[in-house]
Amino acid sequence: MRPRAVVAGGAGFLGYHFVKHLLSRDFDVVVLDNYATGTRRNAQDCSIPDRCDFIQHDICKLIDVAGPVDYVVNLACPASPVDFDRIPIEIMRACSEGTRNLLELALRKGAGFLQASTSEIYGDPEVHPQCEDYTGNVNIIGPRAVYDEGKRYAEALCFAFHRKYRVPVHIARIFNTYGPRMRSDDGRVVSNFCMQALTGQPLTIYGGGRQTRSFVYCEDEVDGLYQLMTSEHTGPINIGNPTETSIRDFAELVLELTGSKSELCDLPLLHEDDPKRRRPDISRARELLDWEPKTDLRTGIERTLEWFRELI
Ligand code: NAD
Ligand code: UDP
Repeated sequence: MRPRAVVAGGAGFLGYHFVKHLLSRDFDVVVLDNYATGTRRNAQDCSIPDRCDFIQHDICKLIDVAGPVDYVVNLACPASPVDFDRIPIEIMRACSEGTRNLLELALRKGAGFLQASTSEIYGDPEVHPQCEDYTGNVNIIGPRAVYDEGKRYAEALCFAFHRKYRVPVHIARIFNTYGPRMRSDDGRVVSNFCMQALTGQPLTIYGGGRQTRSFVYCEDEVDGLYQLMTSEHTGPINIGNPTETSIRDFAELVLELTGSKSELCDLPLLHEDDPKRRRPDISRARELLDWEPKTDLRTGIERTLEWFRELI
């Protein structure tokens, strides 16, 4: 019998790639999604008839899935900084009530549990690069806290279920992931710059552009998530790309790859707590999962630009 996974948030950007990855590994999949930030197109395009069921469901409501379940995967949470102001309560509820409902499902089914955590739990880090033992620098009451503290709570809840009920949890700390299937209007830097360059609009650089991020390509990311989910390791484990890029250099790369004549336009930061530097230490992923990213930024962005051209 094929293994069967329930993927909450499977109609989102990462969800699309993860569901495809599971199907290619001969899994059956049940997707739970309320389409808050996901799309029906993603749901339709990744599906294989008879192997993939879609249930429109808010994970904050009680969850029941008929039949055996081997893994429960929690990707369900709005993740773009623009959503932190737009739907803050929904984010906190997805991280708290939603994660709890999914952990209860895993407990009832005797299933493993993969939690999509995030580099945001390190806040605006004072340690560089960030290793998993670093406990972070998060402003508890800042505008990003709904997401940062929500995800920190979700990790703590996973460990509570693990310690008390022996649920086999696996916690992945995901760093900025990009690629085809991103929403063109999600407000993240990759989608903004690609769309702005392709449509001749100015590239909006917030806060000077000296802040850094480390971008990982979607296929590398879901490969790492899969390795972790099917391992015996609880984590947390950073799944990201250790190559660090400043936002201004990233803008220049997008201009070069598109040949766009767009200008760079300096704007204030969206949020005061915008992390100044972010880069994962992935020694643990290398050692325990034999995983590291393979796709360089240039190649990944070229593939991503193809997706945005198609959307335009
Ligand atoms: P996304 O917004 O594209 O996907 C999230 C999905 O969850 C969407 O399909 C949305 O409709 C669904 N969802 C949201 N709230 C829900 C609810 N209450 N009930 C059911 N479904 C709900 O975002 P993504 O970039 O694909 O991120 C997926 C996961 O990975 C998130 O948990 C996010 O925190 C985490 N993550 C992503 C990144 C990244 O760079 N993309 C980085 C770190 C962590
Ligand atoms: N950013 C930017 N211009 C944009 C969007 C984002 O300069 O149009 C910056 C943002 O301030 C942050 C970085 O790019 O420093 C990454 O932002 P994103 O929203 O993609 O993700 P974050 O890592 O902040 O969650």
